[in-house]
Amino acid sequence: MSDPFSLKESVLVYLDRSGCLEKLSEDCKQYNDPQQDEAVYRFCLSINPSDIIEVDPELGDFVLHDPLKATKLFQSVCFLAIKTLSLLEKIHTESQVNVILKYTHLPPFPEYTLDLCTFPRGNGLLKPVIVEGLVIAMTRVTKYTQGARFLCINEDCTCSTGYYHIRVHVPGATESATVRNDFSCKICNSQLKEDMKLRALGDKQLVELVPYKALNLLRGNQQPSLRYQSVTLFLRDELCNSMEIGHSYKVLGIPAHVHQWPHITWSIEANNIQSWEPESKISGTFQELLNTTVCSPWRFCAIAAHCFGLHISPPGLYNTLKLCLLLSLVQTTSDLKEMFHGLDILVCTNDSLILDRYINTKVNFNFYFIQLQNM
Ligand SMILES: [Zn+2]
Repeated sequence: MSDPFSLKESVLVYLDRSGCLEKLSEDCKQYNDPQQDEAVYRFCLSINPSDIIEVDPELGDFVLHDPLKATKLFQSVCFLAIKTLSLLEKIHTESQVNVILKYTHLPPFPEYTLDLCTFPRGNGLLKPVIVEGLVIAMTRVTKYTQGARFLCINEDCTCSTGYYHIRVHVPGATESATVRNDFSCKICNSQLKEDMKLRALGDKQLVELVPYKALNLLRGNQQPSLRYQSVTLFLRDELCNSMEIGHSYKVLGIPAHVHQWPHITWSIEANNIQSWEPESKISGTFQELLNTTVCSPWRFCAIAAHCFGLHISPPGLYNTLKLCLLLSLVQTTSDLKEMFHGLDILVCTNDSLILDRYINTKVNFNFYFIQLQNM
């Protein structure tokens, strides 16, 4: 392994080349109010793992496989840069620098993609992965502790003042890992007491994500032995409110085992979130039918309406109703926000059972038509 000095040198080269150093200097300006004292100073650095590998493969390996260690290296270099360039006079110790590495992407290899259906889901290593899924639930935004300053209760100890004991949130940590009343001083082993005035709070939101395949259950052809398990995502600070229920996302996150006695849960700390549209998969037969009827604007619709729900009533009956139900599924936009709003239809009937069966079948067809309009 390279010596830490050489790794830190590579971090500095990368920060300089990527423009992160400039951004760091800009970000320091917001903290330069002399009236305002902080225990921790938070800096988000946008990093591109491929570029880092080019600068230093070993550093790139830490970024991809040991993000906590990589964060520590970046934290150390940022502190040195802040002190050397006098960007922030009131910062005293390295632990006051809270660096958040924001990954722009991950290499397109299977080991960096996690299928939510696979089990076991993790080998305990905190390494960034990409998961894809659909949001089924979310909480309101609440507060969490980004960082806190602790002082030693022994007045003769150097840690009774200053910024020696700073705790910041790391992926997978619970609130009690950051703030608790039974921490002890590293120097004299006396009890530590939190300096409540300087507690830094951030925003937090929990989101439940299920594999997109879970929607297959709505098609009515589910296998009874199959079950889908949702996963909890932790969105923090700038990521809060970036997801919506019913939409699909590609989330770059760091899986972690969260210990909340007596339970251990597996969750993901989100790092980067992108909207995601599942690939269209139209059956070959359907595609062939569309190709052979493309000469007429009505033929495809008529055949589709005729064949729709043949198990519910004999051919030739309810054709207008069937056509309307199918038309209500057709979308004219690929805008994700509009995708789930079909055309409303009003049906008057004295046989609600047949209608109910058609509507259930229509729900199963929904997917085909969402995909067809994108062709
Ligand atoms: Zn002490």
